[in-house]
Amino acid sequence: NIGVERPAIRQLDEAAINRIAAGEVVERPASAVKELVENALDAGARRVDVAVAAGGKTLIRVADDGHGIAAADLPLALSRHATSKIDGSDLLNIHSFGFRGEALPSLGAVGRLKITSRAGAEAAEILVAGGQMGAVKPAALNQGTVVELRDLFFATPARLKFLRSDRAEMQAISEVVKRLAMAEPFVSFTLRDMSGGGEGRVTFRADAETGDMFDALHGRLARVMGAEFAENALRIDAGREGLHLTGYAALPTYSRGSAVAQYLFVNGRPVRDKLLVGALRGAYADFLSRDRHPAAALFLDCDPHLVDVNVHPAKAEVRFREPGVARGLIVSALRHALAGAGHRASSTVAG
Ligand code: ADP
Ligand code: MG
Repeated sequence: NIGVERPAIRQLDEAAINRIAAGEVVERPASAVKELVENALDAGARRVDVAVAAGGKTLIRVADDGHGIAAADLPLALSRHATSKIDGSDLLNIHSFGFRGEALPSLGAVGRLKITSRAGAEAAEILVAGGQMGAVKPAALNQGTVVELRDLFFATPARLKFLRSDRAEMQAISEVVKRLAMAEPFVSFTLRDMSGGGEGRVTFRADAETGDMFDALHGRLARVMGAEFAENALRIDAGREGLHLTGYAALPTYSRGSAVAQYLFVNGRPVRDKLLVGALRGAYADFLSRDRHPAAALFLDCDPHLVDVNVHPAKAEVRFREPGVARGLIVSALRHALAGAGHRASSTVAG
């Protein structure tokens, strides 16, 4: 086609690449909170403190007591596809929340990011804003890592326009923190709203649980989902063909008018998976009328090779090698527990 000028093909610069990636990884403030809290947990933190202002739009700060980042590694932590969590040879062998090495560079591309961290005797900090990285400087910090993200999306105003009210964004952040708190009952969490200034207002707090895995989970679920859920929840513990299901599922009498109290985790990772939600519904089908929704927190664990978590940058979706086995396990384990608790099909219950 003569007359049409052929545009040159150019390699995008790192800042542009990171802004594009950020579009997938960081949809809203709650996604930034998710990435930062997951990093804290991957660092072996026993305590994670989250502070946000204006629904996370002006400030998100995540402090942990994990293993920290060495001063010399700070620029690397902010580089794209740099990660300490996998070696790249086996993309299914994943035991951490993170592995893509995208969160920090993405956040640094769309906001003002400051990382302060201590590894060993020395603490250091680094700043990156709109993709422009500063130099590593000495800093003061007792332990762990503090990541502070200010003015999220200041560098991508189009994205800024899509954010909801501070209240709605805060709600989404709270949901993210609670889901991760359910996944890690032995870790203590706080969520603070700094919008009013000063020390802020604690909006969620869960101290580290004790006891065995089921005790700890039960305690944490009581904290997050409420004492009433915990009192009405049946313990689930079943396995088949390399898959193991644990958790708590509420008696049908504790059902809800919406699906808000359904929490599913695969290999410790909170997921929103149609297959699993469908299995949960299916398990209760004989016990609940169609307008009622079961409440449950279920943890499906398997060899990482049986499930692919690398379906989407935010990792909320997973793909099972054998979806039928996962579904079958959920349905049979829950039905068994419900039947054991003396709950016959609703159609046969009088009154
Ligand atoms: P990923 O989590 O996929 O590895 P990130 O961009 O989120 O990628 O983080 C990059 C690297 O920075 C991590 O692999 C880790 O080594 C380091 N890092 C990030 N946050 C923390 C933290 N809170 N504590 C210790 N190290 C961290
Ligand atoms: Mg990460």
